[in-house]
Amino acid sequence: MINPRCMLSRINIFKYNKKYLNTLVPWITQNNIIQHKIISADGCHIFTHDKKIVDFTSGLMVVNLGHNNKYIMDGIHKHLDTGISYVSSQFATDQREKLSERLIDITQYDKGKVFYTLGGADANETAIFIVHEYHKNFGSKKKTILSFKKSFHGGSTIASSLLSGDSRVDNKKKTYSLNLESIMENPSMHDGGIASLLQIKQLLKNDDIAAIIIEGSSGTAGVILYPDKYLEELEDICRQNNVLIICDEVMSGWGRTGEVFAYMKHKIKPDIITSAKGLTSGYAPLGVVIVKNNIVEIYNNKPFLHGLTYFAHPLSCTIANRCLDLYLENNREIIKNADLKGIYLNKLGNKLCDSTDIVYEYRNNGLLGCIELKIKNEKILKQISDDLLKNNIYCFRRYNYIYTAPPLTISLQLLEDTIDKIQTILQKY
Ligand code: PLP
Repeated sequence: MINPRCMLSRINIFKYNKKYLNTLVPWITQNNIIQHKIISADGCHIFTHDKKIVDFTSGLMVVNLGHNNKYIMDGIHKHLDTGISYVSSQFATDQREKLSERLIDITQYDKGKVFYTLGGADANETAIFIVHEYHKNFGSKKKTILSFKKSFHGGSTIASSLLSGDSRVDNKKKTYSLNLESIMENPSMHDGGIASLLQIKQLLKNDDIAAIIIEGSSGTAGVILYPDKYLEELEDICRQNNVLIICDEVMSGWGRTGEVFAYMKHKIKPDIITSAKGLTSGYAPLGVVIVKNNIVEIYNNKPFLHGLTYFAHPLSCTIANRCLDLYLENNREIIKNADLKGIYLNKLGNKLCDSTDIVYEYRNNGLLGCIELKIKNEKILKQISDDLLKNNIYCFRRYNYIYTAPPLTISLQLLEDTIDKIQTILQKY
């Protein structure tokens, strides 16, 4: 005889954690996908029908300002009242121009310009195109763009995938070939980045190198930190070789590391900056490519032959402006606080590392952090992720890296409680 309680819980599994058959879900095998269904969200929490889950990586490091933010929601409602659904790129909007002006002001790219995309991958793809155009304009044949091993610069376009050194794109590398190579050695804290700089110096001797792409602060590769002065020296090497610098601030931007853009913690000035995610805090898709004036001026007398239907979507621009109001208000208070919270998180993370056997290291830059585990067995790692979720904590995990990147608005108490809970779970392994 079937136990009625068992029956009930089986029904619930299918009602709330259905097997999804019609959606091609990124990065996973499609058989037997069972996912929790999110029905609402607020602040640092997401909700299923019976769970209140701490969103400890802001989704995929996106929701920097937290869920259900009233000020952003009001902006969305106000926009809907205008009746504007869509505006072709042949027309302007106040929100688009206001946003461009603010981005140029933040980066101090006097007379620079901003191009709009839907997210990070197409922003990087645009940056690649502009780099090639720039060199071509001066009669140079420079084509190759280098990136760091293990880096991630997007997985939805071919070029961004090939820029990524993440092993998820190995398969694509067998099928497609472009002058994009993820071969730069990551810096190590142990030698202050010297070996990496030497290798890159050697690579840049090749006349074909058009640009390098770096992250303002490494994310998916496992929050690999830049040693002191590393980026400044890297910039010098690039300048000596007429190699442009694209700085990918898709994950590291918008206060995540305690600065508007993470590169601002260093004395460097990239030629092109790409960003997305926290720009709209995930309330709508939007990516940007911010380009220095000496590069965009090549288009003063010839067309910029690149574009997309959803360029500068009016709703997304409105949301981005609302987010910028919050990021910049009270002298960037929210971002400065993220820096302080990062210092506290570093203490908590190191304590967690000392009190568990399976943690190799804790690293963070502001609120972009990563618990590196010694375990490499994917089955056990998946079990750890499931265990976290069972205990109402969502942390994005890739390989043996469990990320800690909560909304910047998180309270110190929730930060501490969540790390304590993660510690208790990891102590079981
Ligand atoms: N660049 C970085 C550093 C990222 O972390 C990501 C995504 O995680 C991307 C680019 C790609 O962004 P999107 O998924 O919006 O295309």
